[in-house]
Amino acid sequence: MFEGLSDKLSNILSSLTRRGALTEEDVNAALREVRRALLEADVALEVVRSFTDKVRARAVGAEVVKSVSPGQQVVKIVHDQLVEMLGSDAEVISLNAVPPVGILMVGLQGSGKTTTTAKIARRLKDRENRKVLMASLDTRRPAAQEQLAVLGKQVGVDTLPIVAGQSAVQIARRAMEAARLGGYDVVMLDTAGRVTVDEALMVEAAEVRAATNPHEVLLVADALTGQDAVNTARAFDQRLGVTGIVLTRMDGDARGGAALSMRAVTGKPIKLIGTGEKVDALEEFHPSRVANRILGMGDIVSLVERAAENFDAEKAQRMADKMRKGKFDLDDLRDQLAQMEKLGGLGGLMGMLPGVAKMKAQLESANLDDRIIKRQRAIIDSMTPAERRNPDILKASRKKRIASGSGVKVEDVNKLLKMHRQMADVMKMMGGGKGKGMAGALGK
Ligand code: GDP
Ligand code: MG
Repeated sequence: MFEGLSDKLSNILSSLTRRGALTEEDVNAALREVRRALLEADVALEVVRSFTDKVRARAVGAEVVKSVSPGQQVVKIVHDQLVEMLGSDAEVISLNAVPPVGILMVGLQGSGKTTTTAKIARRLKDRENRKVLMASLDTRRPAAQEQLAVLGKQVGVDTLPIVAGQSAVQIARRAMEAARLGGYDVVMLDTAGRVTVDEALMVEAAEVRAATNPHEVLLVADALTGQDAVNTARAFDQRLGVTGIVLTRMDGDARGGAALSMRAVTGKPIKLIGTGEKVDALEEFHPSRVANRILGMGDIVSLVERAAENFDAEKAQRMADKMRKGKFDLDDLRDQLAQMEKLGGLGGLMGMLPGVAKMKAQLESANLDDRIIKRQRAIIDSMTPAERRNPDILKASRKKRIASGSGVKVEDVNKLLKMHRQMADVMKMMGGGKGKGMAGALGK
C-alpha cells in the first residue's frame, strides 16, 4: 500500500555513505524525504515543521551505530521522535470518578461518534464489567437517536428512552439522573456534529459539558481528515477541554498523520482507534505501529537495532565498499550468509527492509531458505580461495570436487552460483544507479 514511500526511504538507506557521526548534510538529505513522507501521510504542515526541527536537533552530530548506515540511523531517530510525540502506550479511558461516570463524545458529523459510542460501551461492559447507559443528544439529525438505540440493542447496552422535543442539555440531564437512579457505572453522551466546526455546535456541547461534568471528553476524529485535523482538534480542545482522542477509519487508506497532528496540537492522548464499521472494530492505540504507518516502512527500526547488535562493523564496511564497486565475490557471500544466520535468516532480514519485496522474491526463487544457509556455507568452504574470489573459473570438474567435498550434488553448487550472480546484480543496483541523486546531494 505504501510502496512509493518505502522506496524513497530505502533509497536514503542505500545511498547515504558511511561515516562516524551524522553530519548536517546527512540529516538534511534524509529529512527532506522524511518531510515528504509526513506530508504524504497528511501530517499538518506546522506539525511537520516542528517535528523535523526536533529531529534535526537530535540527529546532527549523533554517533552512527557501528555497522548501520547514517540513513538508517536517521530513520531510527525519526521513528523514536515520532513515537515520543505520539505518546505512550495504553492510554485507557479513565473511569476513576464517582459513578455514574460521564463520557462526552464530541466531533464533526460523520466522524464516527455514534458508532464509537456503541463500541466503547460494549468494551466497558464486556471487558470491565460496567453497567453502561448510552444517550443520544443529537436532536438535529433525523433518526440519530434511533440509530444509537439500534446499536445499543446490538451490543446489549441500555439506551435512554427517547422523549420527543427535548434539547440536548435536557436529554443529558435526564441521562445522568436515570443513571443515578438505575445504578449505572457509566453514562455515554453522544452529541450532534456539524460538517465543519461551528459556533452553535460548540455552544451546545459546552452547555452539555457544564450540565453533566463528564469525566472524559473524547474527541472522535476521522483519520482521513488530513490537514484539517489540526484546526478541528484545536477548536474542540479550546472550547471543550478534550481529555482524549479516538481516531476512526484507521482501517482505511489513512496513513495516520492525523494522529500526530492532533496529538501535537492538543497534547491530548490518542486513546483508541476505530478500525471498521462493526461494533467490535475498536483497538488500543500503539504509537510504534502508527509511527511505522506514518513513515510507510517495514520494521526498519528493529532491523537497525538488531544489526547494531550483530553486525561486525569492519566486515559491513568492507561489504559496503564492495557493493558500491559492484564487486561481490563468494567470500562476501559467505560472510553475508553468516550474518543472515545471526539476523534470523534471510526472511527475517529482507522482511524488515522496505522496498525489497521484489529482491526477496528473487532470492527465494533461487531457493535460499534458512535451513540451507549452512549447507551453502559448506559449499563455499569447499572451494579454494581463488575459486571464491573468481567463481568464473568453476567448470564441471571443479564443481564435482566441491560437491563431493561438501556432501551435495553438483546441481546444488550450480544453484548457489546462480544465487550469487543474482545477488551480485542486485547489489550492484543498490550500490550505484538508483541512489546516485541522493549521494550526489551529499557531495560524496
Ligand atoms: P457520527 O455522525 O459522528 O455519529 O458518525 P457515525 O457513527 O454515524 O458514523 C458515520 C459512518 O462512519 C458510519 O457509516 C459508520 O459505520 C462509519 N464508521 C465509524 N467508525 C468507523 C471506522 O472506524 N471505520 C470505518 N470503516 N467506518 C467507520
Ligand atoms: Mg451520530
